[in-house]
Amino acid sequence: MIFSGKAGLGILFLSLIFFNTVLAQESVSLLDWYREFPRKMEDQTIDQFLVNNENAILSAIEVQDDSARVFLLLEAGMMQADKAFNYELAMDSYLRAMALADSSRVQSGQIFSYLLIARVFKEVGNPEKSLQFLEKASAISNLLKDTSITALILNESGNVHVMANQLDDARKDYEQVLQLMDQLYDPVAKAEALSNLANLYAKENDYNRALDFHKQALSIWRQQRNRLEEANSLNVIGDLYSLMKNDERAYANYKAALEVNLSIDNKEGIAEAYNSIGVYYFNQEKYRESLANLELALSAGRSAQSKNTLRKSYEYLSNSLKESGDFRRALEYKELLMAMNDFILKEENDQKLLDMQSQYALEEKEQALTKLENIRVQREQELAEQKRIQLYLYGILLLAGIILVLIIYLYLSKQKSNKQLQLINARIEEQNIQLQNLNNTKDKFFSIISHDLKGPLNSLTSFSGLLINHFDALSKDDIQKLAKDLDKSLKNLFVLLNNLLEWARSQTGNIDFTRETINIQDVLQQNKELLDAQAAGKSITLLYENTEPLWVEANKPSVNTVVRNLLSNAIKFTPVNGVIKLSATSNNHEVIVSISDTGLGMSKKVIDKLFRLDAKHTTPGTQNEQGTGLGLILCKDFIEKNGGRIWVESEEGKGSVFSFSLSASAKQDVSA
Ligand code: ADP
Repeated sequence: MIFSGKAGLGILFLSLIFFNTVLAQESVSLLDWYREFPRKMEDQTIDQFLVNNENAILSAIEVQDDSARVFLLLEAGMMQADKAFNYELAMDSYLRAMALADSSRVQSGQIFSYLLIARVFKEVGNPEKSLQFLEKASAISNLLKDTSITALILNESGNVHVMANQLDDARKDYEQVLQLMDQLYDPVAKAEALSNLANLYAKENDYNRALDFHKQALSIWRQQRNRLEEANSLNVIGDLYSLMKNDERAYANYKAALEVNLSIDNKEGIAEAYNSIGVYYFNQEKYRESLANLELALSAGRSAQSKNTLRKSYEYLSNSLKESGDFRRALEYKELLMAMNDFILKEENDQKLLDMQSQYALEEKEQALTKLENIRVQREQELAEQKRIQLYLYGILLLAGIILVLIIYLYLSKQKSNKQLQLINARIEEQNIQLQNLNNTKDKFFSIISHDLKGPLNSLTSFSGLLINHFDALSKDDIQKLAKDLDKSLKNLFVLLNNLLEWARSQTGNIDFTRETINIQDVLQQNKELLDAQAAGKSITLLYENTEPLWVEANKPSVNTVVRNLLSNAIKFTPVNGVIKLSATSNNHEVIVSISDTGLGMSKKVIDKLFRLDAKHTTPGTQNEQGTGLGLILCKDFIEKNGGRIWVESEEGKGSVFSFSLSASAKQDVSA
């Protein structure tokens, strides 16, 4: 039947939901799926199932659920193998499932594909191949450390070993399952292993042990409320007792098996139990009871279409009737038995032939399987190679990272040491300049002492010599003139010594340059008054307009020295009848003091030499006053120590303007 429209879609949807939930619940659910699938497919026809299955696969493709697709393919295979006995088609589905599980790395899908392929080989009577695939399934399951699936594979492997008559290997498998139960208890796997072991011991005629294991299995089935398995257990226990000639116990177990089978309406089981009870009565020579039970077995066997129970029913009905003296009916059943035997034999032969054909076909499929295996091995190798390359890359990246960090670290530390070096160099440079200055100071000092002091003192001694040796020859006017010259020389010497001492003190750091708030006008006024007479001596006009106070932050004695030096220079280098102007102006945060004269002025070349220790420059004044070239150096030194600047503007023959700045006091700002 083909589903169409909404109904079809609904079914697809349900199938997908089923698989999504199955896969979400890990291996326990996968085990349930595997165990319960045979029961689920009992009620469906193959065609109906396959249509639904195909549609569900299409939906899985649409939603890209590879895992669901793998298990849907496995279901299709199981349907083909277990219901249609078409092992070729089953194998096709399993191969497709395997290829997909491989490519999308659904490992549980790989395990179940192997398990089901192994089952196909077992069904067609090829235990060796079957075991090979079970080993592959087991390898992946071990890798995943999935105990419950490993137990399932071991039980299956034991059964295949039994089929190959490798009983010891089978025993090992089952015992291993029992050991695994310590790690993860799975009642179904345990009960199966127990009854498998029991069957093994029964095969070896160790009935006591077989009985013991079956009873253990029976108790688990009862706990699990698995009535079908309970009935089967009771039945085989009955058979064992029968083999042990304990007919009463055998009978009791058959009776119990019958009751359980009746309660779940398991026709085949009912037939089997009635047969066993019938045989029991036959052995007891109670033919009437035997016949009654065997007839019930016959009817149940017919509705179950169970050939083996029917055969047994025919056999014992014939025997019982013969013993009861009803030879005619005995013969009838004998004939039915023979026909059934023939039929079963023929069916078995047909099946064998089919199996052989399947085997041949499967051999061809195996090539496809080998190809798949090769692809997988290749893919795994590629993956391993990729991983190795990835590892190398990570290694290289890590190394590069370390090298980068090292380089950065080295670079930074080099930069740091470079900076330190630069700092040290700058300090050395500074110290060099200081040393150079010191050296220049020292040179200047000695040159002044050796030359400039010697000159005036020489002229003084020659004056005093003149006075001593020629006193009588000198007129009063001469003496007065000499005394005037002497006085001038002494004054010059005094100025020089004064400057020299102050400068020496400033160089040795002995002068206190502490600043205070002073009115610069006061300093200018005092110096004007001090030098007024000297200016008047040269008929020079000293102009000074003392306006409002201008407050500066400065050290008064040093500013005083500066003003005095600049003013005496102006007088010194201005010819008679010249004019000298003193002024102070406020400019932003500074106060600028200027002393301008109408004197000799200076060339650009001379200006460049001023204020410098290393370029000695001195010229005599308009009245041949001698100098040392120390005054301006002192001025620059003192003004800078007060935080100001000093500069000159001059033109040869026209005059000069010497200016300096001092920082204005806040007091001045307020007053302004
Ligand atoms: P000194 O006056 O003892 O030579 P200074 O350092 O005071 O030393 O001055 C150095 C030189 O600068 C002077 O010799 C002179 O050549 C020049 N100078 C200074 N002041 C003036 C000025 N007002 N006018 C022209 N030249 C000046």
